Parts: sequence; structure tokens; C-alpha cells
Amino acid sequence: MEYEAVIGLEVHAQILTDSKMFCGCSADYANAAPNTHVCPVCLGLPGALPVMNQRAIEMIAMAGLALNCTINHDTFFDRKNYFYVDLPSSYQRSQYDHPISSNGWLEIETSAGTQRIGITRAHMEEDTGKLTHAGDLSLVDYNRSGVPLMEVVSEPDIRTPEEAKLYCTKMRQLLVWIGVSSGNLEEGAMRFDVNVSVRPKGSTKFGTKIEIKNLNSIRSVERALIYEIERQTKLVAGGRSLQQETRGWDEDKGVTLSQRSKELAHDYRYFPDPDLPPLTLTAEWTAERRAELPELPDLRRQRFQAAYGLSVQDAALLTSERAVADYFEAAVKAAEGHPAKSVGNWVTGELFRLLNDSGETIRAVAARLQPSFIGELLGLLKAGTINGPTAKLVFEESFRSGSTPTAIVDAKGLRQISDTSAVRQFAQQAVDANPKVVGDYRAGKIQAIKFLVGQVMKASKGQANPQLAEQALHEVLDR
Ligand code: ADP
Ligand code: MG
Ligand code: ZN
Repeated sequence: MEYEAVIGLEVHAQILTDSKMFCGCSADYANAAPNTHVCPVCLGLPGALPVMNQRAIEMIAMAGLALNCTINHDTFFDRKNYFYVDLPSSYQRSQYDHPISSNGWLEIETSAGTQRIGITRAHMEEDTGKLTHAGDLSLVDYNRSGVPLMEVVSEPDIRTPEEAKLYCTKMRQLLVWIGVSSGNLEEGAMRFDVNVSVRPKGSTKFGTKIEIKNLNSIRSVERALIYEIERQTKLVAGGRSLQQETRGWDEDKGVTLSQRSKELAHDYRYFPDPDLPPLTLTAEWTAERRAELPELPDLRRQRFQAAYGLSVQDAALLTSERAVADYFEAAVKAAEGHPAKSVGNWVTGELFRLLNDSGETIRAVAARLQPSFIGELLGLLKAGTINGPTAKLVFEESFRSGSTPTAIVDAKGLRQISDTSAVRQFAQQAVDANPKVVGDYRAGKIQAIKFLVGQVMKASKGQANPQLAEQALHEVLDR
């Protein structure tokens, strides 16, 4: 019998606000000494009252809208009660049955085509502190306590680890694009819980679900799912029944391990937080949030294809990040008269390569390597002032120094040699210096001329016009 997996994901993303969710402490704790971003509210001291961070609510609603959700008119906050050292108040402020937004979807591009994954809800949650275990000691840092999080819960619409990876990647791209998340996985700005069950293929009933908690990379999501699906399939195919439980992922061993039997909603004794007022999110307020959203990646990708005649792949690459898309469009605008596709090729080819090597972001680089430089370079190429290989060198130099292509060509004397007599001299030298190759050529090995063209290019420091070089060689050889 064939089995298939049913997967639903919960994505936690730290919201990019200046301050924490319910107090004025800075939410930027990445480089802070432990327990320096704390106050009575985020330490859960008795009597301390929370004040809601309005911007966090706005940003979660923006994310909800970007995920095609309905923004709920009435929303409120619940206490999720449990005791753990990283949660000083013994309850987490979260949302249970009145989330900020619900009923949306996110589309992923799989090899089989576009697939729509349902979004159940996107709601507010506060983060907990952080425990570090060192030998016999456990250390707790409350800098993260009360930092605003958004939780996005998907419908069980995902079927393969590959789809789960695409979903997480797309979610990250979208949240970063709209400015709600830093997307910085190394710093824990996004964390994933995966829910997975298996069932006989064709069955419409769900199997028993297992939750794997706290995965901190997209790669771990994929690996944990591959492992867990195989484990569950073996058990179910062997006639065993599974117990609903929570498991953890051991990154080094590459296995999932049982942590505890799954807690149910009633274990948490959810109830509305009496310290926080319910919110009424009006249609006007929602319209304002929608107006704050930039053009979203899917639409921008489709527009790039239609407006600039780009392939699906190129359009996807050029919309991988909003800063890349902005850079490309600025370059196209400045490169009047040159095909957008050529501009795109410089961005996805040379620029991506240089960014990858240097580890810089396009935002940081754009201040020196101005988008208009690409059009300038294309102009130099079109006029025959430089050839292709020289253009790459010039671009790299612009990338490093921020000088314009024309200034670099002039300063370094890189103009292509299109003077026939000068090229003829290089051709003569190449012929004189390589009698064996010339012999091969004369014996009918026509390809040998490519070597001689190479010699001319080398002798001219790459500046000879390659067509002229070949022409001059023919003239010298056939004389
Ligand atoms: P819980 O109350 O345990 O958190 P939910 O019903 O809220 O459970 O679902 C949590 C996540 O699990 C959602 O992403 C949902 O799509 C997914 N899910 C629910 N049932 C299953 C199942 N049988 N197999 C896999 N995933 C499931
Ligand atoms: Mg859950
Ligand atoms: Zn605080």
C-alpha cells in the first residue's frame, strides 16, 4: 500500500518593532548583555500592567492581509497558562479563538505548478525568555520575554517535505518583503513547528498527528519531515497505531525524539486577559493597513514577466528580495534603449556573483554601484567601446570602487582597439611566434585560428576587438 503525508505548519516570526509587546523595553536584544532589557512588566512582577504596542498589532494585520486573510473586526487576547522558568508570569499572552486575522492562503510554486496552502490564522503572541543550560546550572535571560511574535498556522494542505520547504521559504520572503520580519533565522527571528501524520494514499481521513517543535531553520524542517514521515509510515504499515505526541528534532543525530504527550487546549486554561482591552479593528483601520503594503512579490513577479518580457526564472530571481526588485527596476529606467532582459542578466549574473562573494547586501552596495551604471555599461558595449570580457572587469571595478564605467574605461585605458593596423600588428606577432599552430592551420585544422585569436587578445590585454582580430589573422595567414 502507498502512504502519503499530511502536513500543517506553525510559523513564529518576531515582529520588527522598536519596543516589546506590552512595555517600553527595547525589542532589539540580539547583542545586549543578559537581563538588561527588562522591567516589571516583562519580568511578570505582580501588579505591573501591560500597555499594548499598537505598531505590532498593525504589522500583524499587514501580514494577515499579505496572506489573503480576513482581518477580524473583534479581536482579543488570552492568557495561555503554564509554568516554566522562561515564562515569569506563568502565562503567555496569546490569542485563542479571536485572532487578529484568519482564513487566508499562500501560494507556492512547485514542479507540478502553483499550489495554494490555506492559512488558518495569523495572530499575536508574546515571546518567552531564554534558558541556557551550562553543566549543572541553568541560566535564564529575560531580554526576549515579551517581544512581539506573530504565529501563522496553516491548514493541513501540505503533502511533502519539499512543499513544506517552499512554504517556509515563501513565508520568509513575504514577511521580510513587507517589513514585518528580519527573516534572520540564525538569530531565531523565525521558528517553525511542524505537524505531520501519514495515511493510506487516497484516504480522506487524517491519521494521528505528531508535532515537532522549535525547528530553527528551513533545512531542519525539511530533514525532520523526511525522517518523521519514514518513521510513521513504517509504524503504520506495520499495523501499529500512533499516539499523539510532541517530539523534538536532534540536529546532529538527524532523528526526532519523543518529548511529551501532546497537551490539549484545556490543559492551558485559556481565558481572556483581564488586563488587556478587546480591540475593534474597523474597516477604515484595515484599509489603512492595506494601503501601507507595498506591491507584493507574486504580483511584482508577474508584472516583471509581462512588462519586461522576462522568463519565469529570471522574474523569480529578480523578485527574491524587494531591494533586488527595486534595484532592477531603477536600472531598467536608467538604461533607456537597452532591453530589460540584458539589464536583468547583469543583475542575476555578475551582480549576484559579486554579492555572494563579498557577503554584502544589495542595499549596502546600491549606494556605490548605482543602478544607472548598468545602462552605462550596456551603452559602452553597444558602441563597441569595450568588449564583453572587459565589461565584466569594469563592472567588478565599479562594484568595488563605485567609479562609473566610463571613468574606469578612461582611467585604465580599456577602450577596445578597433584600429585595424594596430590589431594587424598583434596578429602578425601571433603568427610569427606560433609556427606549429600556423602549420596546423595551413594543414586544414581550421580551429587552430581560435588559439591565435586568443594570443592576440592576450597580447592586447583583452582590448582587441575579437572579430577584428580574427579578420586580421585571416589576412596575415592567407597572404
Ligand atoms: P493543536 O490544537 O494541537 O495546535 P490544531 O488543530 O490547531 O492543533 O492544528 C495545528 C496544526 O496542525 C495546523 O497547522 C494544522 O493544519 C495541523 N494539523 C491538524 N491536523 C493534522 C493532521 N492530522 N496531520 C497533520 N497536520 C495536522
Ligand atoms: Mg499548536
Ligand atoms: Zn519590559
